[in-house]
Amino acid sequence: MKKQEFKNYLIKNSTVNKETGCWEWSKGLTHGYGVTFRNKIEYSRRAHRLSYKIFVGPVPKGLLVCHHCDNPKCVNPKHLFIGTNMDNTTDKMRKGRWNGNHLKGENSPWWGRKHKQESKDKIGAANAIHQKGKGNNQYGTCWIYNLGWEENKKIPRFELKDWIKQGWIAGRKMKF
Ligand SMILES: [Zn+2]
Repeated sequence: MKKQEFKNYLIKNSTVNKETGCWEWSKGLTHGYGVTFRNKIEYSRRAHRLSYKIFVGPVPKGLLVCHHCDNPKCVNPKHLFIGTNMDNTTDKMRKGRWNGNHLKGENSPWWGRKHKQESKDKIGAANAIHQKGKGNNQYGTCWIYNLGWEENKKIPRFELKDWIKQGWIAGRKMKF
């Protein structure tokens, strides 16, 4: 199954909530999360994790795909981000306070929360995939391609291993 087919599958099986912009999964749920058919991309069959992998990029080992919108059945890739278990729990605890991203210092919901440097690096790397050009410069980039999805893309060089694990190949292909 190609990437585009996965995209279509995710879009087809979710309904856009016009108020929140959430893509709400309209097939089966488990613990409130959307469930997909069995596939090789996301073994857990969690729809939001599949969506993140298909639309955004790989999920580093040991980290979670969390919801900005606090809506577990949402599969809108723009509402998803990579975080730790701690992020996920704290996120739920301060439900309704998400619009605090612009708040600085101790007014910010992020105030006083500490991550180990290692998970900071991982989170930074994963979330930097959205920010093309920006934030990635210091690492240097390289090209990778994926035969199944017939796609080239540029990634920060230090992420290469993770992508290769997910079936990508280093280099650039002009014709598929
Ligand atoms: Zn959402």
